[in-house]
Amino acid sequence: MNYYGNPITRLIEEFSGLPGIGGKSAQRLAFYIINMPKEKAFSLASAITEARENVRYCSVCCNLTDNDPCPICSNLKRDNKTIMVVEDPRDMAAYERTKQYHGLYHVLHGAISPMLGIGPQEIKIKELLNRLQQNNDIEEVILATNPNVEGEATAMYISRLLKPLQIKVTRIANGVPVGGDLEYIDEITLSRALEGRREM
Ligand code: ZN
Repeated sequence: MNYYGNPITRLIEEFSGLPGIGGKSAQRLAFYIINMPKEKAFSLASAITEARENVRYCSVCCNLTDNDPCPICSNLKRDNKTIMVVEDPRDMAAYERTKQYHGLYHVLHGAISPMLGIGPQEIKIKELLNRLQQNNDIEEVILATNPNVEGEATAMYISRLLKPLQIKVTRIANGVPVGGDLEYIDEITLSRALEGRREM
């Protein structure tokens, strides 16, 4: 039933489609926006449009960026002999906050999950392989996928795939709680996990 008129109903529907937003929250957000000063509401709308228009995958590491290559790939001060493989741009941000890691990254945008029907082709593994085949500088690949079933399966898959390339492949230590989500783990634990990494 359409109690509020079409534009508000549409806004509520758009919000309901977002993760973690139920019907009530969607209504609350929609009415909040309707009551905002116009400039604020337009600024929010343009932030969404601009982010969606201009943010893309870095052609080197698949991180999200509005500059290609991304600031990390184009930073000549980074150690370009090491690549850390993470599932998500937020995991990369978590490692950046530790300030202990100075190498490069590769963002998979997910993990292999037979349960969810996500195979190796659905995430950025092919891009990693191409990158390593085209670049002889890389000496170590650190697999920093999440310490859960999907993350471990992904790490195993990649380590097997990289064997023929004769690059050192390491896995972050179990300092990270099992089933943990890298994004939420504190910086000290992440730094320890990195220091304690082992060859696969
Ligand atoms: Zn990049």
